[in-house]
Amino acid sequence: MFSLKGKVAVITGGGSGIGLATVRRFYQAGATVVVADLSDETKLAQEIDGLYIKTDVSIENEVQFLLEKTVEKYGHIDILFNNAGIGRGIGMMSDAESVDYEVSFKVNTMGVLYGLKHGSVYLSDGGVIINSASVAGLQGVPTYGPYVASKHAVIGITKTAALELSLRNIRVNCICPGTIDTPMVQNNTAQKAINNYVTPLGRNGLPEEVAALVHFLSSDDAKFITGQAIAVDGGITAGTSLGIWSGLAALSN
Ligand code: NAP
Repeated sequence: MFSLKGKVAVITGGGSGIGLATVRRFYQAGATVVVADLSDETKLAQEIDGLYIKTDVSIENEVQFLLEKTVEKYGHIDILFNNAGIGRGIGMMSDAESVDYEVSFKVNTMGVLYGLKHGSVYLSDGGVIINSASVAGLQGVPTYGPYVASKHAVIGITKTAALELSLRNIRVNCICPGTIDTPMVQNNTAQKAINNYVTPLGRNGLPEEVAALVHFLSSDDAKFITGQAIAVDGGITAGTSLGIWSGLAALSN
């Protein structure tokens, strides 16, 4: 396993799903982990001998406070995983509600932007920032307008930050998960049901499989990778799955 010994990592949305799997993996790899979340994760922080800081990533002051307190306690930050996100406002564009776009941008995009802005102040030179985008940041998804728009923006600001922060050798990448079995998906029956057809590998991913990518990107083994949007999606972005073709063939018989 890539060692993160001596590194201090901050993970937003660390109490659930992909964030939680990454908290556990980073801890096993030797990192000191700060868990930022809306829900109280004090118990989790005790389990991993880390720290919990209540944070709403859509509020700039709270993100700044999170990073400031981390440096105050541990002296430095080496890894920032801007992971917190929400899915909201499913429906056709013709029925779009602006509030769904506004809230999606507030959490998914502005939350990442605040991490980049204040991360650039508090991260050590040579540090790593990883942002949560999505396959919905790489392609359109019918009925997911607010989410798609907010995640496309994450990829844009990731690339821009990577160019700006390269001067300090801070690497900035984003990950683009496909459908991963986390509470976000488990609470969405429509999405849960269709993905065995649309994912070429025929199943949804596990949060641990995303954490493995985040771990690699955070490690020194990835020190020449920056400004990238990397999919971990069971092949969704490679093209139309055989599951879809055979489903269509069955329909036409
Ligand atoms: P999840 O299990 O719902 O976890 C999301 C976490 O983010 C929760 O702990 C939640 O806290 C926290 N959070 C939500 N809003 C927040 C805010 N304003 N401030 C701070 N924390 C907040 O979802 P997940 O599937 O692991 O998603 C993690 C990231 O991966 C998200 O950015 C998501 O868009 C992205 N992603 C997920 C998938 C997927 O299929 N699961 C695919 C592509 C991308 P509470 O529980 O306290 O609300």
